[in-house]
Amino acid sequence: MHISNINQSYRGRFAPSPTGPLHFGSLVAAMGSYLDARSCDGEWLVRIEDLDRTREIDGATQLILGTLEKFGFHWDGEITYQSRRTEAYAAAVEKLTKRQLAYPCTCTRKEISERAVNGAEGAIYPGTCRHGLAEGREGRSIRILTSEQIINITDTIQGPLTQQIDREIGDFIIRRADGYHAYQLAVVIDDAWQGITHIVRGADLLSSTPRQVFLQKLLRLSQPIYTHLPLVVDNQGRKLSKQHRDAPVDPKQPMDALLQALAFLHQPLPPQRPGSLDEFWQWATAHWSLAAIPATRQIPASSLKYLNSLR
Ligand code: GLU
Ligand code: ZN
Repeated sequence: MHISNINQSYRGRFAPSPTGPLHFGSLVAAMGSYLDARSCDGEWLVRIEDLDRTREIDGATQLILGTLEKFGFHWDGEITYQSRRTEAYAAAVEKLTKRQLAYPCTCTRKEISERAVNGAEGAIYPGTCRHGLAEGREGRSIRILTSEQIINITDTIQGPLTQQIDREIGDFIIRRADGYHAYQLAVVIDDAWQGITHIVRGADLLSSTPRQVFLQKLLRLSQPIYTHLPLVVDNQGRKLSKQHRDAPVDPKQPMDALLQALAFLHQPLPPQRPGSLDEFWQWATAHWSLAAIPATRQIPASSLKYLNSLR
């Protein structure tokens, strides 16, 4: 990476997973993080979160980057790839394990579901392997030892959020049984490594944020400012997803999608259709207002007239 570290007051990022082409929901996240950074004269980095090779779709990375370019996004520094960062994640797992803040777990999904109660994020791990493995069994995954500490965050848009991770989530996985490091760990390591000061992303990740802040505290990393944008959902309240190939944006028609994304975020719209992408971005940056974004976790795409053409 060739990014200077001097006097950096704002560094944002967009961190897509290459699980399909860019859809309208990811365009909204890209736009929100980009405009927030640019309106503060900040830097904006792109990181490809290709941690889980089993979910990756061939060619998706190039499709996403190509679409960002055609939409007129300009990123700073080099693109980073989580698939090249395994050593850093492994070092963090080792450090946490040595400090006895992480431990191996032999439990299968079935064993856990037989004993666990369900929390907001699925089964709460019952703590079976917390105090050592049963004889003759080998660790499959690595879990973090959670504590009673209450995690409080204040999201710029969504407001305060409180979570007691041991009770509400349980000891969560930082390295999976198949050897891949977990998103929660990788994202924290990379945001710190890249010096990210502001995280703007979809509200589907709001409930992950206390786990990320918990890891930052354990690893003594600084905590970025969090801003979670309303998520674009379908009529069933389901997140648009790249895997389901929902509403991919057409790189040949960037202006329509850009205007729709801006309107989705309740930003003021240019009085007339911008003549160029540069003109669009200049206008959108100059008029960017976080305060205008509704403090809600999701907005159905269909509730907005101008979005009807997407579905
Ligand atoms: N890679 C994640 C996704 O595509 C986003 C991670 C983040 O922004 O923290 O949903
Ligand atoms: Zn276990």
